[in-house]
Amino acid sequence: MSFSKNIYITAQAKLEKRQKQAKEDLDIRREKAYLAIPQLAQIQNRIAACGAQVIGAFAKGSGAEGKAYVEKLAKESLDAQKERKELLTSAGFPEDYLEPHYICSICQDTGITEEGICTCQRELLVQTAKDEIEKYAPLGKSTFDSFSLDFYPEAVDANGISPKKRMGEIAEFCKAYAADFSAKSPSLFMHGATGLGKTHLSLAIANKAIEKGYGVVYGSAPNIFSQLEKEHFSRQNPFERTYEQELLESDLVIIDDLGVEFSTQFTVSCIYNIINSRILSGKPTIISTNLTPAELEDKYTQRITSRIIGSYISLKFTGRDIRQLKRY
Ligand SMILES: [Zn+2]
Repeated sequence: MSFSKNIYITAQAKLEKRQKQAKEDLDIRREKAYLAIPQLAQIQNRIAACGAQVIGAFAKGSGAEGKAYVEKLAKESLDAQKERKELLTSAGFPEDYLEPHYICSICQDTGITEEGICTCQRELLVQTAKDEIEKYAPLGKSTFDSFSLDFYPEAVDANGISPKKRMGEIAEFCKAYAADFSAKSPSLFMHGATGLGKTHLSLAIANKAIEKGYGVVYGSAPNIFSQLEKEHFSRQNPFERTYEQELLESDLVIIDDLGVEFSTQFTVSCIYNIINSRILSGKPTIISTNLTPAELEDKYTQRITSRIIGSYISLKFTGRDIRQLKRY
């Protein structure tokens, strides 16, 4: 798994919250049970005392005498636990009422097992990574299953292309790309008019990449540049991992809607740096734009456009604006 440091920190905080919650819930249940069954406190003390004596016995050595003593203590503890269960059930409480109730019984909400990272922590990391993108785009809704070809015309257009057929092929390509995704996958250049599903398919790929444990940074071009600009002019801590580093180092970067941002010398140099560095390090990038390659060249210089055209797999989206059609 190669999520960003922040994803790990957030997921860890969620785990700690779960542990704390389990402890607090247990404290409340204990209070209730002790009020209802006063003998419980005394039984609890016996169980705790056995535990403490076992630790002391181990310190004495592992001779036959010590072993017998430990066995005796273990039996006492088990008897006390049995008695506790009986008292609880006869008073109408569930028998595990005084056990901590963890969300994950495998790792007791620590996130770690003997084999390493627990499945619950893996799920938590994936969900946290998805939540991060969901702040900016409808990641959860944009899956391959929810991508429909219904709104693409079947009939061939002026270029002799059936949008439905073309988009079916593009969707299949993206699906296969996502299924095989790795940090060495090729980059994609999605271009075509607004509302043809570029964002939807790039997010569907993001979903799959995150589920495979890859770190994904997604942003619309205006958003990415404004964050970079803010960081560039107000950076405080030189050791902090920056947004720029994330854009250079993440397994997958998705730049949506390139060309709608207000372009300046700063944005042009940023975009060149991101595209070029990622090509050199062999990391995949997905760029989507409503501009034609010629319009892109006008906006960003030929140097950037030829890097994209020369190194990315080009996917030309066709059809009519689905968002318009869906309204009727
Ligand atoms: Zn777990």
